[in-house]
Amino acid sequence: MGFALVPPTEPELHLLHGWLDSWRGVGDIVVGMARQEYDLELRRYNGRGWRAMFVPSGVEHSFISQGTGQLCDVCEQAITADHLEYELDIGGRTLRFHDKCLDMWRQVGR
Ligand SMILES: [Zn+2]
Repeated sequence: MGFALVPPTEPELHLLHGWLDSWRGVGDIVVGMARQEYDLELRRYNGRGWRAMFVPSGVEHSFISQGTGQLCDVCEQAITADHLEYELDIGGRTLRFHDKCLDMWRQVGR
């Protein structure tokens, strides 16, 4: 149950454009973070630079977006566009939750 000790917020580093615009800089960061067993997700936003997100290896990756109408894995109701949809990648499985359902799911344990 070690996962339960990990706080729900993931460490996110918003790095300066200038540094990330050089691939040498990116390589230095990736190697350094990999040494500390962090997974890296790198995104480029059209015309708005880069964003890097580091997640400890083996820990759930979560994404939050506007509901897409998919079914929640707790209450089995559709997550509609007027709700936030939390998407978690855990061990190759993708789970989706309403924000309230995610809280319930975390409390119950896994
Ligand atoms: Zn739900």
